[in-house]
Amino acid sequence: MAVLAIDAGTTGVTAVVVDPDGTVVARGYQEFPQLFPRPGWVEHDPDSIWDAVRAASASALAAAPTTPTCIGITNQRETVVLWDRQTLAAPRPAIVWQDRRSAQLCERLRADGHESLITTRTGLRLDPYFSATKLAWLAAEEPATWADVRAGRTVVGTVDSYLAARLTGGRVHVTDPSNASRTLLFDLAEGDWSEELCALFDVPRSALPEIVPTNAVIGRTDPEAFLGLDLPVAALVGDQQSALFGQTCFTVGSSKCTYGTGSFVLVNTGTKAATPDAGLVATVGWQLDGQPTTYALEGSIFVTGAAVQWLRDGLGMIPAAADVEPLAASVPDSGGLVFVPALTGLGAPDWDPYARGAMFGLTRGTSRAHVARATLDAIAFQVRDVTDAMARCTGQPLTGLTVDGGAAVNNLLCQLQADQLGLPVRRPTITDTTALGAAYLAGLATGVWGSTDEITKRWHLDREFTAGAGAADRDKAHRRWRRAVAAVREWSA
Ligand code: ADP
Repeated sequence: MAVLAIDAGTTGVTAVVVDPDGTVVARGYQEFPQLFPRPGWVEHDPDSIWDAVRAASASALAAAPTTPTCIGITNQRETVVLWDRQTLAAPRPAIVWQDRRSAQLCERLRADGHESLITTRTGLRLDPYFSATKLAWLAAEEPATWADVRAGRTVVGTVDSYLAARLTGGRVHVTDPSNASRTLLFDLAEGDWSEELCALFDVPRSALPEIVPTNAVIGRTDPEAFLGLDLPVAALVGDQQSALFGQTCFTVGSSKCTYGTGSFVLVNTGTKAATPDAGLVATVGWQLDGQPTTYALEGSIFVTGAAVQWLRDGLGMIPAAADVEPLAASVPDSGGLVFVPALTGLGAPDWDPYARGAMFGLTRGTSRAHVARATLDAIAFQVRDVTDAMARCTGQPLTGLTVDGGAAVNNLLCQLQADQLGLPVRRPTITDTTALGAAYLAGLATGVWGSTDEITKRWHLDREFTAGAGAADRDKAHRRWRRAVAAVREWSA
């Protein structure tokens, strides 16, 4: 027995085959293009996501010692996809979570007094980050496309729903509560779509997917569509909640931080949704088949690994993302440079869609290495902003941070994070935790694992980073960072 887990991320798709020990025995990866049609806009071609899913899965399967017995899907969240109910073809590109085009629409809804209803129902905020604002923008700006949505020819969903449709050859239109709870259309307490919010954002309820449990068998793959395989698809889960599951954060108060394109800190708040405060949002963690919903509190930071990508692609400063570590380590500190990477606005805890990035403290002595170092510092500062907010919100300061994601392999980053928090940072042996969570959920649904207790035993520590000498000035450095954030917001206002 083994599970194929597909992590359809923001910049690429990772596919892993996980054996019953919880070991990743094979891996495939396929990047796909990012489309930036205008400043602040970010799109993906849904076909290129689907092609990447097939390519990454084919590589993982070719390297796997056994054929998997089920599939789990995890995905970039909030991104909206439209597709034809019959042909599955997309009439327009997906609008990605990082896209800011609905900022003015959010302002109008705020001015019209809708914000408190939205926050109370959904646990989220009125911000362009969330799906429904992007759908409302489409309804207003692309009436021809939206007419097909109203007529029932085109359906809408998040990336999990799109992949569920693709994998099953169009037999299902489903999503799970962890994904639905990111749309601004889901009533967090009721556990279902809210008619009131659908009306507010002009989204026909009939175009939305059916909500099924996070670890439900939703159907079988269509061999003609998906690599000749006929396997049950047994989990759909948003990537950050999947990482929380993969890190085995099953008890109230347990938390994790995933360093990917953005960074996301989530804490398990149990079977009752927490009241969001201090710039955090409340969300569904997962809803296991036949069990009550598990909720989480989340701090969503938009640009962390993406800032490293920008050093690579935008500035051509490093050939590969991993090169940021030796470059940043070649200097003892940033030489006074502070980089606020608000490249797509600011998420938690400041939430400012209009903020743009800046560097402070440039001198004749500033080098590439200082910029690289300031980029890693910025990741650590942003995560501290969120963990500080979490401590205020829950009344319980964190005792350590468990990390994962593509950038968690960066030892210097983990050390800077430990220094900035003044707390131990723990990294597990498997940093593909997002994919691992989907594997565990699918395996729970199909009998690969019998319980979450069994899964907890499969978590192994790779390395613990303890706060070192760099921790001495942490509060002073953080205060200076906060001044830079304030300046960026002031400049962009
Ligand atoms: P996602 O799932 O959001 O696509 P991943 O978990 O695959 O992201 O992580 C990829 C991100 O991590 C990219 O933004 C990349 O720039 C960053 N990254 C990858 N390796 C490193 C590294 N060694 N140091 C810092 N950042 C890195």
